[in-house]
Amino acid sequence: MSSQKNEKMEAIISLAKRRGFIYPGSDVYGGLSGTWDYGPLGVTLKRKIMQLWWQHFVESRDDMYGVDAAILMNQKVWQASGHVDTFADPLVEDLKTGERLRADHLLEDAGYDVEGQTMAQLDELIKQHGIKSPSGNELSSVRTFNMMFSTTVGPVADDKSVSYLRPETAQGIFTNYKNIVDNFYPNLPFGLAQQGKAFRNEISPRDFIFRSREFEQMEIEYFVRPDNWQESFDALLKDIYDYLEALGLPSDKIHELDVPEADRAHYSEKTIDLEYDYPIGRKELLGLAYRTDFDLKNIQNASSKTMEYMVKGTNERFIPHVIEPSFGVERVLMAVMENAYWFDEANDRIVMKFPENIAPVKYAVSPLLKNKPELVAKAREVYAALKKKYGNVMWDDNGNIGKRYRRQDEIGTPQCVVIDFETIEGDGTVTVRDRDTTEQKRVKLDELI
Ligand code: ATP
Repeated sequence: MSSQKNEKMEAIISLAKRRGFIYPGSDVYGGLSGTWDYGPLGVTLKRKIMQLWWQHFVESRDDMYGVDAAILMNQKVWQASGHVDTFADPLVEDLKTGERLRADHLLEDAGYDVEGQTMAQLDELIKQHGIKSPSGNELSSVRTFNMMFSTTVGPVADDKSVSYLRPETAQGIFTNYKNIVDNFYPNLPFGLAQQGKAFRNEISPRDFIFRSREFEQMEIEYFVRPDNWQESFDALLKDIYDYLEALGLPSDKIHELDVPEADRAHYSEKTIDLEYDYPIGRKELLGLAYRTDFDLKNIQNASSKTMEYMVKGTNERFIPHVIEPSFGVERVLMAVMENAYWFDEANDRIVMKFPENIAPVKYAVSPLLKNKPELVAKAREVYAALKKKYGNVMWDDNGNIGKRYRRQDEIGTPQCVVIDFETIEGDGTVTVRDRDTTEQKRVKLDELI
């Protein structure tokens, strides 16, 4: 990672905190590693990204059903899915400081390719290349570390009451597949979609919100006939690109990684990861996987309830296969923020060039001078009208007008509306200042509202 790129990441993290997008979690108590809190602008931006996804993949289609499953689920869910046994990362310890680290990340950082390596092979590579901890100390052997957070449900803590904070939203979809089939009897192909929190006890959370311990996912399980999975896979991939385009993410920063067999989950016959050129390097943004009938079959075996689908008007029954698009909200958000960030050298200012449809604030409204009651009164009127119409409109009368523009540029407000004497005494126009060009136009109030 070049220092210039690091600088960009640092600038974004600093802006995120300074301007009320994202704060380190529990900051007042010294923080809690891998957790982040969203401030007023961050939560709006995040929700807009999630709403756009919901609109795109659920509301605008007639083959998708939304669900919102509980985060705590019966432990059998995670036993049947294989998470209890295998949802693990390779852990090594710094033998001097006790710091715990990801073996594969240490090797990657040292320039070695670790795709598809087993725990034993990673251990071998660490020894062979004499990899040390970041503090320069010897490392322990590699061992597996299960990433699920466990807890107990109810007043008695024993083996039967163990549950987990879900490490993915997907299982909450699979466990509702039968409910939706029984209630709605959709034709194949159809999908179930869910958005919500997921938790992973990452060994070393890092890179801002990219690798967190608590994050949010947007996932779809799209059920298909086994013989035409490819068609649905390709169609979903196209839909994913359309969604990323609606977020303003340029296609030349997005790269397809056709995950080789050795690196795919054993049940997956095809997986494409979409990687994004983040300032921290090219990294996984989201995944699209063909998971066969692995999950529903496991549920059928473990629950003894049939997961078969019966084709309408026939006796044909089978367990549908599934295609899974899996998005991490934070990774999408981080891509959106990195793509929006622009240091405008000509005007010596930082601008977040969010596309208008997801900008947290659509208009900032202010009186030219805040000590002129007639300007303030008119500006309040304009503000109220715009706020009623759009919702995400901000009142801003702090400091002089130049400072206000700078602040609004940093939070990515596409347009600032200023009420001056011409508005009240002249032709009823206001100044509308464009974030990207800094150009100012006079616009009739009726047109604006
Ligand atoms: P990685 O290899 O980066 O750990 P993964 O392959 O384990 O990711 P999946 O299990 O496929 O990730 O999860 C689906 C999506 O959830 C990922 O593409 C990513 O967008 C998001 N995601 C996974 N882990 C995290 C995390 N710790 N923090 C933020 N987002 C995450």
